[in-house]
Amino acid sequence: MVKAGEISIVATPIGHLDDMTIRAVGVLKSVDQIAAEDTRHSQRLLAHFGIEKPLVALHDHNEQEKALMLIEKVKVGMNLALISDAGTPLISDPGYHLVRLAHQHGIRIVPIPGPCSIIAALSASGLPTDRFIFEGFLPAKAVARQKRLMELEPESRTLIFFETPHRILESLAGIIAVFGALREATLARELTKTFETIRTDTLLSLLNGIKTHTVQQKGEFVLIVAGNTTASKQILTLEAERILKTLLTELSVSDAARFTAKITGIRKALLYEYALKQSLT
Ligand code: SAM
Repeated sequence: MVKAGEISIVATPIGHLDDMTIRAVGVLKSVDQIAAEDTRHSQRLLAHFGIEKPLVALHDHNEQEKALMLIEKVKVGMNLALISDAGTPLISDPGYHLVRLAHQHGIRIVPIPGPCSIIAALSASGLPTDRFIFEGFLPAKAVARQKRLMELEPESRTLIFFETPHRILESLAGIIAVFGALREATLARELTKTFETIRTDTLLSLLNGIKTHTVQQKGEFVLIVAGNTTASKQILTLEAERILKTLLTELSVSDAARFTAKITGIRKALLYEYALKQSLT
């Protein structure tokens, strides 16, 4: 099944063991060694499929040095497979240095495709799938997160983020502050697992939903946000609202709307209408 001196990049389940592919099992049974992120975790998966192979740990902290050692062995004929704790290796998981080094040494890399939380979430989201970008985890610190979100705000492609239970509320609130409360988004939680929940709604409804049902804040998340299209540009973002309100304290309604339109790219007419309402209240 595998040829001598190759490295197979093998995707494994993201929750449901039945998602392991027949090819993945076959390849893992026929290689000489398996590199895994967390060997104890992977041992359980491999035991479930009756795979008994020597494991070597390859994680973020030792990858550069271990990759070199593994490449030397592959060059003299060893077959290696790489797996991660869940899903497709290298997707926010170790393996980049190994694959890069393999290319430099003329070693063939064989992808064994399978589960990936990004694609699973996107396929079920109901948001545009023709063009999308993957952003990984947003920065943990508020200032850095806001900076990145401001860079992403004009992006017209569907945006995909990873999120953790302890940051999901903060991140959703941060995205709302920059993108506006009404942008459509999907929160895909615990994909393929017993308590899988996939909800598509406005960012605000998703935030309110998980605030109310606190159990929905637990588990693993993929957050998908619709891109900035003409339709979503018509919606006033919280940031635009803030700029407009500040300018209204110094300028006429018309000028405040004009400058806010220049800064945010939102239609002047929409801002003017909103500003008029503000100045009357
Ligand atoms: N390589 C993995 C893949 O292909 O999906 C991703 C690994 S990354 C370190 C872990 C993140 O992926 C989690 O924090 C979560 O955002 C997302 N994730 C992984 N499994 C998931 C699942 N079953 N449901 C929702 N999100 C998941």
